Amino acid sequence: MRKLDPTRVMKIDTTTLESGLSQAHDIVLIGHFNPDGDAVGSVTAAWHYLKARGKQAHMILPSPYPESMAFLEPEAEEDHIVICEREPETARRLVAGADLIICLDLNRLARTEYLEEDILASQARKVLIDHHIAAESERFDTVLSTIDVSSTCELLFWIIMAMPDIAGDPARIGLRCAESLYVGMMTDTNNFSNSVFPDTFEMAARLIARGVDKNGLQEKVLSCYSVSRTRLMGHMVKDKMKVLDKYHAAYMTLSNKEKERYHFKPGDSEGFVNLPLAISSVQVSALFTENIDGQYIRVSLRSKGRINVNRFANRFFNGGGHHNAAGGRLYIPLEEVPAYFENALAAWPDEEKFS
Ligand code: 5GP
Ligand code: MN
Repeated sequence: MRKLDPTRVMKIDTTTLESGLSQAHDIVLIGHFNPDGDAVGSVTAAWHYLKARGKQAHMILPSPYPESMAFLEPEAEEDHIVICEREPETARRLVAGADLIICLDLNRLARTEYLEEDILASQARKVLIDHHIAAESERFDTVLSTIDVSSTCELLFWIIMAMPDIAGDPARIGLRCAESLYVGMMTDTNNFSNSVFPDTFEMAARLIARGVDKNGLQEKVLSCYSVSRTRLMGHMVKDKMKVLDKYHAAYMTLSNKEKERYHFKPGDSEGFVNLPLAISSVQVSALFTENIDGQYIRVSLRSKGRINVNRFANRFFNGGGHHNAAGGRLYIPLEEVPAYFENALAAWPDEEKFS
């Protein structure tokens, strides 16, 4: 097998993180609202890593995550991920009792949805590990954040590799931790199709050499859907996709009625927003999903190449994210979304679009 050159990888200064970890007794790991594979993967990977170091840690996610990722959770009931929407009091108690809080895969505390005030009020040291644009650095004691990685899981992989106990040897990373890291990277890159850097392949190579079953994880996480989900996808493309030639854009809307009709489960719309990008003329794609409580519309945006949807999400959709993948919310009825989207496309300044 080809020998990997250990000098050719991302180097991260983990001195402050290491001293924070070694002093901490009660660590809380928190991911973002509507957790995706990278949020679940980074939180569980950090938990498995800390557990192997003999550290006490708890995981909190603001809302439920896709069922296909349940296998990343530890088995023991007392170690389960606390879902804030189901156990708000437990989540608050854990945050209040922590001496170290690590937020993963979020750039703003508001992305924890319910816990922003509790985290701010806590006396704990606060660490951020993230890969989004414009992290709220001033609200954390230690910030490990870069946009030059595929995912939070990739950043976390290189952080763990730099920790003294792992010392650059992936064989020392526990298998469960390694699997979580792989899943987060795999889902955030859409299985190596976007935001992939040379170090991303380096990470994958090392994890696979470590024993991660790439095909097994793909099957578990990417080929995990129901018949009705696949039919919903067909319905969205055939009946719902609108192509706006003038703006090189396409969009789809998904209502609660449609969700009901197709027995929708969290995670079922994963990947829908990418589908219109397969059309050569489409440069921007949007998916607008009515939230289950009907309080707002979830916005998902994707773009090709130089088009910056992060700023588009900032300006028009109360959100943010990355250059080619962003999201946000709209507080209007679903019927008003098409007109709003067209107006936003028309008003989108070129200097922001190509920034
Ligand atoms: P998705 O479309 O997959 O839900 O999200 C794409 C990207 O946009 C993710 O990196 C996510 O962190 C970011 N994002 C999604 N929703 C929001 C939001 O409401 N606010 C902000 N700031 N970012 C979001
Ligand atoms: Mn991510």
